[in-house]
Amino acid sequence: MSTKDYLEKDYYAVLGVPKTATPDEIKKAYRKLARQYHPDTNQGDAAKETKFKEVSEAYDVLSDSKRRKEYDEARTLFGSGVGGQRPGGGGFPFDFGDLFGGTAGQQGGGGAGERLGDLFGGLFNRGGGGGGTTRTTSATRPRRGQDVESEVTLSFTEAVEGTTVSLRLTSSAACAACTGTGAKAGTTPRVCPTCEGTGAASRNLGNFAFSEPCRDCKGRGLIVDDPCPVCEGSGRAKSTRTIQARIPAGVADGQRVKLKAKGAPGENGGPAGDLYILAHVKPHAVFGRTGENLTITVPVTFTEAALGAEIKVPILKGMPVTLRIPAGTPNGRTFRVRGRGVTRKDGTKGDLLASVEVVVPQTLDDKSRELLTEFNTATAGDDPRADLIQRARSE
Ligand SMILES: [Zn+2]
Ligand SMILES: [Zn+2]
Repeated sequence: MSTKDYLEKDYYAVLGVPKTATPDEIKKAYRKLARQYHPDTNQGDAAKETKFKEVSEAYDVLSDSKRRKEYDEARTLFGSGVGGQRPGGGGFPFDFGDLFGGTAGQQGGGGAGERLGDLFGGLFNRGGGGGGTTRTTSATRPRRGQDVESEVTLSFTEAVEGTTVSLRLTSSAACAACTGTGAKAGTTPRVCPTCEGTGAASRNLGNFAFSEPCRDCKGRGLIVDDPCPVCEGSGRAKSTRTIQARIPAGVADGQRVKLKAKGAPGENGGPAGDLYILAHVKPHAVFGRTGENLTITVPVTFTEAALGAEIKVPILKGMPVTLRIPAGTPNGRTFRVRGRGVTRKDGTKGDLLASVEVVVPQTLDDKSRELLTEFNTATAGDDPRADLIQRARSE
């Protein structure tokens, strides 16, 4: 709702109530008229539909005590019953164009036709050309593309090393059939008379003006009479494209990767939106991961742990590395293999954490049993539970 609306439209007359009407009287009058003109009961009757809109608009303002007060004040301040006169045409203390910070002030010559020409530039092949006033409606203003969300499932290795994935993205773009105007091919949207193409409406109270999107054109600055059948007048269409997206090394399961400016393309020279990719990472049969470190459990025999050994440990990519297990290594001890973990942002790598797990032979041949029995006899003095029972009792 603009100040201009407030001054040009007599909402009391639309609802057929006096200026002194109570909220109840306003509601009653509205209900009666709304029933009478409702589109559901007047299929295809454009005149009645217009009337219905007028009635709704009037009720919107007059039923809201705050807005009714603003409306009354605006009309008291600037006079009422102006009817159809253009701003600057006389009688107004100032130009509305100044209020909107827009371009409505430059109305020198020319009617709507000339303004359309300015708006659509090349669409109208008008000779000569006027004063070269540049107008911008919100429909032709640069617009940033939408942010787009996508998901990807990576193998464990791809996540650790980084990879490039192919993504099919669906986003909203300007409708190709109407080049985003929303008007049927061969027709042109007209400049919204309410906001005069600025897309902004100003609600005015005394010396203060609040700008808000124009309600009649929903901020587009244009009104479409004959909508494009492809996009149903929205001017928007779904577009599908395939892009190659680089997933950096070190992505964790459930992490969102932001790729700047890889979202929907901008319009009218606006920047592209961003692309957010939710990464799912499949588990690995052997390796685990804690942050920037990889983990692995390495089985060792009792004798390797007891005597010490050099064992081969696999790494995620490349030849296995040799790990020295010192004599007397307890079960579960973790060894750090430097630089064999996950690639960090700066290109350096985390570590591989190898934990040993002592395995007990499930079966023994005669020779092994004989030797182990001998070993048992030799170590009979070492009782690992020597003070266990004692300690258990002391508490
Ligand atoms: Zn279209
Ligand atoms: Zn408008």
